[in-house]
Formats: sequence, structure tokens, C-alpha cells
Amino acid sequence: MAKTQYEVGEAGQEISEPDDGGYGGDDEAQAAAKRAKKILIRRPGMVAGRMHWRDGRNVKTWRYAAQLAFVLLNAYLCVQFYLWVRYYETGGATLKVARPAGVEGWLPIAGLMNLKYALTTFEIPPIHPAAMFLLAAFLLVSVLFKKAFCSWLCPVGTLSEMLWQLGKRIFGRNFLMPRWLDVPLRALKYLLMAVFLYVAVTMSAEAIEAFMRSPYGLIADVKMLNFFRYISSTALVTIAVLVIGSVFIQNLWCRYLCPYGALLGLVSMLSPFKIRRDAEACIDCAKCAKACPAQLPVDRKLQIRSAECTGCQSCVTVCPARDALQFSLRPGGKGAANGDVDGIARRWRRRVLSGAMLTLLLVLVIGGVIGAAKGSGHWQTVLPEAVYQQLVPLAQRLAHP
Ligand code: SF4
Ligand code: SF4
Repeated sequence: MAKTQYEVGEAGQEISEPDDGGYGGDDEAQAAAKRAKKILIRRPGMVAGRMHWRDGRNVKTWRYAAQLAFVLLNAYLCVQFYLWVRYYETGGATLKVARPAGVEGWLPIAGLMNLKYALTTFEIPPIHPAAMFLLAAFLLVSVLFKKAFCSWLCPVGTLSEMLWQLGKRIFGRNFLMPRWLDVPLRALKYLLMAVFLYVAVTMSAEAIEAFMRSPYGLIADVKMLNFFRYISSTALVTIAVLVIGSVFIQNLWCRYLCPYGALLGLVSMLSPFKIRRDAEACIDCAKCAKACPAQLPVDRKLQIRSAECTGCQSCVTVCPARDALQFSLRPGGKGAANGDVDGIARRWRRRVLSGAMLTLLLVLVIGGVIGAAKGSGHWQTVLPEAVYQQLVPLAQRLAHP
């Protein structure tokens, strides 16, 4: 075992960095290290099993910041879009604002249809192109960084997480579905995804264009807003059931029903970044598996390939052992044994994606796609004012073609 600036101890003995003094004890982690007869090298910054939220290495802080920023962005888009709709509904009597094309992120089916249109015609669709660009950006994020969209950005995922955390606080735990029910229920979201994919893939480019240019297609975004403004009692009861159920069951909507998450999950299996465990640094405490909202066996796998992994890094956040668990590319050279601090660190050098770096890359990828769409003049749906003046007030009466 390499002798370094770290104190070196017997198997199961805690080793800490001299300049990181003041660690609170973490009896659980030490006991696990002893049981596994491994040396626990503490992760820098961990105090009593936690990392301070202001520590720049704390992934949770970065993720919460990204979630908050995306919720605020969506709230802003929603208010601006509502004002835009009101302007036409009142015949120009209210404040005139620009239509925020970003709301098309809430039109995933239009995004899918437009993607099919673009792939078959090699032309950028003129109606709701932002829906396609945003879908493409989120697919790209998933190809690169697992389903990070779901756990870092999606406002529905954020709400879902808040609800199960509330349930955990109230009841001390969340409830797990029995496996015989969990597996078929998880299949539901893939079934829904298959239906939407089938619709988009089997429609010809001409049919997609005809739909998008129909009165309903032109103001599909207004129809979406009105769905929530004039919500039916059936939809309200369904949402209430999902909200209440999410307090008891972790990520009820995301885990069992969200077709968008299902699609991103399948694509995410291509991601070069994965949760990876270093068996030599790991002390087999199983904290990671316990913290995983997707109930994945993180403590027993060397890498998590599952389409259910959202890249939330809740597992990484709780891991007490240095270099034992990371969101990373494949590790480098082998040969470093338990306790070899430098050898294990070398294995992961320049391969790990920190919370700060992931946040930056998410901004760059999504910002890059939006910037390219804007720069090339393809971000906005451009329609004459008269079309909106005529159609927006009629939105409630327009039926699906
Ligand atoms: S394995 Fe880790 S990153 Fe993946 S879902 Fe579970 S806690 Fe999140
Ligand atoms: S990887 Fe999991 S089992 Fe291993 S030390 Fe970290 S939290 Fe414990």
C-alpha cells in the first residue's frame, strides 16, 4: 500500500487527511469498514457523514440550484405566455408581450412529430420548431449524462422529489411497491412511449405538416395552457391522486407513467458517463443503495447501466469513502488495492464529472442547441398577427383534427 501524506491505519481503521481535521465521527461507516475488513479513507469534505451545502464539491447543492433555476425559468415562461394569450383573448386590451417559444418544451409530442418531419424532409419545421430543438437538446443531454434531465432540470421531477421527501419527513419512510407489481407498473411508461413513438413514426411528413398547419396544431401551445386553466374534474382527480400518491411512493409519476422519461431512459443507456463504484475503495456500507430513489443496487454493481438511473448522484452524495463512487467515464489503470489512496485516485483522475462541471455542461449543451436554433433563425414560429387574433380566442372550441 502506498505511503502518502495520509495517515495509514490497519484494516477497518479510519484514515483522514491531516488538513481536513474536524471530521465528526461516522460510526455507521466505520462499522461497515470493519465488517468488510477494509480501510475507510474518508471523502474530503465529509463531516459526520455529510458535506456542507456550501461546499463546492457537494453535488446536491449544484443539483438543487439547477432544479430551482429551471423551475423559475418555467414559471417565467408560463407567466409570459399567459400574458401573451390574454392579449389576444381581450382583443388587445391587455399588455402585449412577445410569445416565449420556450413554452414549446411542454409540447413533447409536437417535438417528436417535428423531429420525424426534419429527419425525413431535411427541413426545419416552420410550426413549433422550438419543441423539436428542446426535445433534441434533452435527448442529447441523456445520451451524454444519463437521465440528468429528469433529476436536474424537469420541473415535474422536482415536484415529484419534493413530494416524496415530504412523505419521508412525515412518515419516516417511503413505501415500496412489491416487486411483482413494480416491474409491470414500470412497463406502463414504455407502453405509453411506444404509443407516442408509433404515432410520430408512422405519420408521413405531409400528414405532420397538415396537422401542424391546422388551427388546432397552430395553437397547440394555447390548448396546453387551457388544459390547466379550464381543467376537467377527471383530470383534476387524476392529478390529485398522483400528487397524493407521490407523497407515499418515490417518483410515482416518473417511475411508472412518464413516457418522456422512458424515452430519455432508453437513450441514456448510450451515455459514456455512469455511476461507477471502485470495489477497492468501497467499504460495502450500502448507504448508496439505500439513498437511491430508483432503488438500484448501487452497492453491488461496478457500474449502473439501468435506464432507471437519473444521474441524480444521491448515491454519490452519501458515500463516505474517497473515490468509491462517482459519476464518471470508465476508470483508468487497475492494480491499486484497498488503502492505496494515490493508486485509486489515479484510476479516476480526469474521469469524474463533478456537480459544478455537470451543471456547466448542461447549460452549454442546452444553451448551445437553443443558441444554434436562434442564430439560424429557426427558433420562433412565425405567423401573421391575424392568425393569432383569430385563433387564440377560439382555442377552447377547437377540436383535435
Ligand atoms: S444510481 Fe445513483 S445516480 Fe442513479 S438514480 Fe440511483 S442514486 Fe441516482
Ligand atoms: S459505494 Fe456505496 S457501499 Fe461503497 S462505500 Fe460508498 S456508499 Fe458505501
